[in-house]
Amino acid sequence: MSRIGVLAVQGAFREHIDALSGLGARCFEIRKASDLDGGADGLVLPGGESTVMGKLIRDLGMFDTLRGMVSSGVPVMGTCAGLILLAEEVEGGMTHLGTLPVAVRRNAYGRQLGSFSATGRFSGVGEVPLEFIRAPMITRVGEGTEVLCECGGVPVAVRHGNQLAMSFHPELTADRGIHRYFLDMVG
Ligand code: GLN
Repeated sequence: MSRIGVLAVQGAFREHIDALSGLGARCFEIRKASDLDGGADGLVLPGGESTVMGKLIRDLGMFDTLRGMVSSGVPVMGTCAGLILLAEEVEGGMTHLGTLPVAVRRNAYGRQLGSFSATGRFSGVGEVPLEFIRAPMITRVGEGTEVLCECGGVPVAVRHGNQLAMSFHPELTADRGIHRYFLDMVG
């Protein structure tokens, strides 16, 4: 059975654990560096506040380990703030892990009207609900990065090899298609 490490220092990690556990995966919370001592078959970087999570993964001494795992091919799913943690460019802001060839703009859908629902076709999954909460916008998609889903002509989900990331929150809806897709990546 796959062991999925879910970054649990801040944000909406519980919903990912529930979603993945419901699909039969074994999840553990990553709260401190030693939680990664046993490795992981997959990683989840949840939504929340990317500035807070980015600071905590550095302060807690797990930045290099996480970055190394992603670089060495461990499947990772980043949602919303998790996408920002992965992005190689954060417009006007600080880059964190920087492993995913995309640029993102934080809170780009507007601060007041930043939360909205839509649906979209997700390649390999089908029609999925899209739940946006003060979401980052993907403003550039780099070489070798595949767009899996668009909303209003803007990419909202991408994949680059072992890295899957999206602007929206699949863990906040009842649809499990995207979590199933991620578990297929984990194998
Ligand atoms: N606005 C948050 C950030 O910039 C992301 C919001 C979310 O994860 N729902 O980090």
